[in-house]
Amino acid sequence: MDVRPAVEADFEAIVSLYRDVVDAMHGSPYDAHWDMDYHPTESSLYESLEAGDLYAAFDDAREGRVLGAFVLNAQQCAGYEQALWSTAASDDELAVLHLLAVSPDARGRGVGDALIAAAKDAARSREARTLRLDVLADNAPAVALYLRTGFRDLGVFPLVYDGVFAVSAHLMDFDVTEAGERVSSDDAQAAPRTLLCPASLAACKLCPRRCGAARAEGVAGACGAADTLRLARAALHMWEEPPISGEAGSGTIFFSGCPLKCVYCQNHEISTGNFGIEVPPERLVEIMLELQNQGALNINLVTATHYAHLLPYAVAEARARGLSIPIVYNTSGYECVSAVRELDGIVDIWLTDFKYADKRLARTLSHISDYPQQAIRALAQMKRQIDARGGIVFDDEGIMQRGIIVRHLVLPGHADDSRRVLRMVWETVGDVPISVMNQYTPNAAMRAAGGELARAVTDEEYELVLDCADDLGFTQMYWQEGGAVDESFTPAFDTTGVLPKQ
Ligand code: SF4
Repeated sequence: MDVRPAVEADFEAIVSLYRDVVDAMHGSPYDAHWDMDYHPTESSLYESLEAGDLYAAFDDAREGRVLGAFVLNAQQCAGYEQALWSTAASDDELAVLHLLAVSPDARGRGVGDALIAAAKDAARSREARTLRLDVLADNAPAVALYLRTGFRDLGVFPLVYDGVFAVSAHLMDFDVTEAGERVSSDDAQAAPRTLLCPASLAACKLCPRRCGAARAEGVAGACGAADTLRLARAALHMWEEPPISGEAGSGTIFFSGCPLKCVYCQNHEISTGNFGIEVPPERLVEIMLELQNQGALNINLVTATHYAHLLPYAVAEARARGLSIPIVYNTSGYECVSAVRELDGIVDIWLTDFKYADKRLARTLSHISDYPQQAIRALAQMKRQIDARGGIVFDDEGIMQRGIIVRHLVLPGHADDSRRVLRMVWETVGDVPISVMNQYTPNAAMRAAGGELARAVTDEEYELVLDCADDLGFTQMYWQEGGAVDESFTPAFDTTGVLPKQ
């Protein structure tokens, strides 16, 4: 793929690309609400071409085929002045990225990443210090793409395009100087931990609910957690994905409580009932070492989101005392980007759910409507961290040592949303290992309520979702045989392993 400034001969193909992109985006989760009659118009694109500001990516395999495009200039629309930019720059020291577009036929080929890399290079060659952009507040896949490629999100601001169109958009920037590149690629390690520390319990914002509970004073948050650590079970578990459980088992530690309250939860005794035993953080360290001694292939922290403030201490202490196996962070996917960033270097494997694409479904079933946007941003950050550390690594036995697996539980009656989830994952992080599960089992509340969630997933529904994953191009996929609904997937929450043996 070659990305270069466009010339007159490319123009028709570039306009055609923008038309295709506008059509494909319409009504999709990544709709930028472009309209070729208003923005971008053919004449505005031509002005950019004449100014040398229009760039395009070309397919090496098919001469003249345009895979994507962008415009780079120094024009900030009204509202940019509200952001506290990471890098101060005079007007002639900044570049602004506009209209980044990828052909619908070329998604998943790294075109977006290549365009962004080219935009950074072009900004540098113009002697800019910083590259800025705006992206509509509800365009979660685009936000995720920019976060994954190192941009900083300054927040959402009211902007006015062309003096007419009022929108809410994220303002983001990237320091294109050499020092900035270094900081960006290493920001997690360099950043002090301001969230994952005991002080954050004063007004808890550990998860995206940001309920502000005074946990340090013993007040429980929406997750059920207060100032003490509660654990429900710590034991070897054989039924995670093969590269996690292997033959020997994964050393799972189930934390009590959960920021989500999914109505169909299989683990409702611990998620909603907060079942468990209070233990000091030192006991968490001992448990990790005991699981390693039992032969665990990894330490699998199941729903530790609301106790993540303890992990920097607990993992460092366990490492100092001989813990050598990977740390798996097994999460609902509803995570703050800042928490994920601060877990870099602590977590080796992200085993992350992606539950819903539809925020109404998230509100109905998990009582939160921002699940898709939070999950997509967190996922992008997880992938970026794994890439920055050198990518996914397996040992000789095929056991994952570093990496990411995105899980999705297919829900009865919601195969369409499952397919949208897979598309979102593909658009955000491309070909990552995915685990598509059909083990949904109606709990007592769902059976009593009746409706679609009172039954299991049909073979036809499951096949539809698996076919979608194939069609998108996922090459590393785990799936389940049979209708699951096996009690071994949901172990007994009897506090096994939580207390020291007498
Ligand atoms: S982790 Fe719990 S207490 Fe903290 S913000 Fe989330 S729900 Fe609230």
